[in-house]
Amino acid sequence: MNQQPDFSKGLIPAIIQDASTRKVLMLGYMNEEAFEKTKSEKRVTFFSRSKNRLWTKGETSENYLNVVEIMVDCDQDTILILANPEGPTCHTGADTCFNESNQDNAAWLDHLKHVIRSRKSADADTSYTASLFKKGTNKVAQKVGEEAVELVIEAMSANDELFKGEAADLLFHYLVLLEHRGIGLEQIIELLQKRHQK
Ligand code: AMP
Ligand code: ZN
Ligand code: ZN
Ligand code: ZN
Repeated sequence: MNQQPDFSKGLIPAIIQDASTRKVLMLGYMNEEAFEKTKSEKRVTFFSRSKNRLWTKGETSENYLNVVEIMVDCDQDTILILANPEGPTCHTGADTCFNESNQDNAAWLDHLKHVIRSRKSADADTSYTASLFKKGTNKVAQKVGEEAVELVIEAMSANDELFKGEAADLLFHYLVLLEHRGIGLEQIIELLQKRHQK
C-alpha cells in the first residue's frame, strides 16, 4: 500500500474491484476500524451506514471479498481494493452492484481455443470437433460459410434465441478453422490491436 487513508473527516469510500476481471464489484464506506479489520483479516469489511456497525461483506451470504491488494488515492480520501469474490457480490444475486456480469469473456474464449486445440488428437468417432479436423480445411471453411449464412438469416428474424444460437455456432466453427490453419486466436487479436493503434 502506498499511503495511509485519511479518516479525519469521517467515512471514506472504498471501491472494490475484481483482481482478475478488473470489473468494479461494489462501493462501500470505511472508517479506520473497518479498514484495519479488512487489512488484518484479508476480507473486506465496511462501516455500514444503514446497519450503523461494522459489516463484513459475506457475513451471512458467505460471499466474502478476499483482499489481494489495497491502494489509496492521490489525496488519501478514497480506497481502492483489488479482491477475489467468493460469489455474487450484490445482495440481488448479481455479480456486481452495477448489474454487470463478472466474467472475463476473452479469457473464456481463450479456454475454448485450448479445448478445440486438444481435439486435434481426439477420437473422431466420439468428438465432433475431432471429426471436423479430420475432414480437412476446405470442409471446415465451408462449414464456417454455412454458419455465417445461417446467422445472416436469423439476423433478419425477430427470434433472439435462434440468432444467439447461430452466432455461437459461427464463433465456434471460426475458432476451429483458425486452429485447423494453425493460426491461434491470439494472432487475430494481435492484428486487431495493431489496426486499432493506427
Ligand atoms: P452479506 O454481507 O453478503 O452476508 O449480506 C448481508 C446483507 O448486507 C444483505 O442482506 C444486504 O442487506 C446487505 N448487502 C449485501 N451485499 C450488499 C451490497 N453489495 N451492497 C449493499 N448491501 C449489501
Ligand atoms: Zn481523492
Ligand atoms: Zn448491490
Ligand atoms: Zn448453425
